[in-house]
Amino acid sequence: MRQYNSSKEIQTDLMKLRKRSTSIGFVPTMGALHEGHLALIRKAKAENQRVVCSIFVNPLQFNRQEDLTTYPNRMKEDKKMLESVDCDYLFTPSKEDLYEEEPAMNFNFGSLGVGMEAEYRPGHFEGVAAVIDRFLDILEPDRAYFGEKDFQQLAIVRWLVDQKGADTKIVGCKTERFPNGLAMSSRNYNLQPNEFEQASEIYRLMQYCKTQIPKMSPKELSAYGLEKLQDNFEPEYFTIVDEDTLKPIEKWSESAKPRVFVAAYLSSVRLIDNMSLID
Ligand code: AMP
Repeated sequence: MRQYNSSKEIQTDLMKLRKRSTSIGFVPTMGALHEGHLALIRKAKAENQRVVCSIFVNPLQFNRQEDLTTYPNRMKEDKKMLESVDCDYLFTPSKEDLYEEEPAMNFNFGSLGVGMEAEYRPGHFEGVAAVIDRFLDILEPDRAYFGEKDFQQLAIVRWLVDQKGADTKIVGCKTERFPNGLAMSSRNYNLQPNEFEQASEIYRLMQYCKTQIPKMSPKELSAYGLEKLQDNFEPEYFTIVDEDTLKPIEKWSESAKPRVFVAAYLSSVRLIDNMSLID
């Protein structure tokens, strides 16, 4: 696996590949890799001739300084994991390199940028869009891979690519989970061993929602989920929305594709998850 720190260098080398019609898949990450990330890389490997993974903890998408400073850093382990799945290129730019030019941060995401993560992490998606915008300009990949674990982010990225008129196809990938249902996440590295089991309650509550349709309304289920979480977590939201617009629904008849979204702190670790309620 070849590692690049410089945008210009990777850009030059990828341009050579593109001239030879070599397809390029891209998997952006913030490191502290786990099986969820590796699933994205494997899919990218299967669908492209070369795969670039980036590891960049993007300061622009952190609204709390503490969250940024406690974000896990495991570069040595990450490189081993990437080599184990035959990743071709690792791109690890500095923020000075990536943001040599001041990034544009004025996006209008419409309803996608209103609730949930947008509400609880002001400026987060502007930071996400800024970094993805930059990566797409530098790498010009044929396909870029994003997890449904961050479903709202996936929607924002699709919106961005549409706005830019970029030629990159965005591929959404299923959420990888532990056997107890807990979604894999870099933030899990900060959980205490006893919290690992507790954290899976989020998954059980989301599954429970499926069993209550149509007995309980989306509004009742959201209130129920929020109350249940309060025993062991500090929940931020437990919301049922339409998957396409991400607007909250109060009645099942309002959406053909309802999806539940959750964010909650377990001790100091912020966990997010989501699940379709129709499959
Ligand atoms: P992150 O390093 O958290 O920025 O995540 C990098 C990419 O991996 C994003 O597209 C995430 O949605 C995706 N991802 C993170 N966790 C999972 C998971 N458990 N299953 C599938 N994809 C994931």
